[in-house]
Amino acid sequence: MEGILVFVLGLIFGSFANVCIYRMPRNMSVVKPASHCTGCNNSIKWYDNIPILSYIFLRGKCRNCGSKISLIYPSIELLCGLLFLSMFFLFGFSYMLFPFCLLMFSLLVITAIDFEFQIIPDEFSFMLMIVGILTSFFNFMLGDTVFQRILNSFIGFFAGGGSLFVIAVIGKWLFKKDAMGGGDIKLMAGVGAFIGWEKVLFAIFLGSLFGSIVGIFLILLKKIIKKQEIAFGPYLALGSYIVLFLPAPNVVLNYLMMLEENFLVKYIFTNI
Ligand SMILES: [Zn+2]
Repeated sequence: MEGILVFVLGLIFGSFANVCIYRMPRNMSVVKPASHCTGCNNSIKWYDNIPILSYIFLRGKCRNCGSKISLIYPSIELLCGLLFLSMFFLFGFSYMLFPFCLLMFSLLVITAIDFEFQIIPDEFSFMLMIVGILTSFFNFMLGDTVFQRILNSFIGFFAGGGSLFVIAVIGKWLFKKDAMGGGDIKLMAGVGAFIGWEKVLFAIFLGSLFGSIVGIFLILLKKIIKKQEIAFGPYLALGSYIVLFLPAPNVVLNYLMMLEENFLVKYIFTNI
């Protein structure tokens, strides 16, 4: 029952995410005016603005002018609902739920905006830094005692932002151009305040891995020109999401090494 409530809350936040995704990169207010059709500019009535359901009832068309409503809108709403639900499965109905739902909302909006515009709005990164640090004392993902948690939140902040800053400086020195935006640095400082130093470094590692795989794939497909920047934010966001569900990095590494050892042992034995 509580899960359904969290899912519905996610759908509503998803609806607001759509507003942010459309308006923030265009420097428009996310509060005023009320939602309107991008085709005919008519304001949308509340009953035509219900997440997912309205899209189905209107069969994906504006009631007024009949112009097509992008499938992206209900998809974002559904995705936000599922992300919130996954936080419920992770944290239950606890104090941790709301801050982490806020993290999910931010990562979703950032992913969509960065993907299309190659920018990460500072508003979200700064909000994550502040909320991450302020809620750290009850964030059991960061440690056992209150002191450990607050400390890990600060170290996570510096580890997340600092490691990308170092990569950015080295990248600039090597390639004589900006390899990474300041937006990525600020984002991972904020994420680090939420998840601590170990997980944020692990998230950056995973993000880089995903980014490289997709980047190589795209170059092979010749979909991007070499000089064009690839947005890094979506991969960092994906990495940050995945590490929430993984045990501490050292546990994962031990497990991988164990697998490899077993594999080596079998390999050696079968080949002697
Ligand atoms: Zn319209």
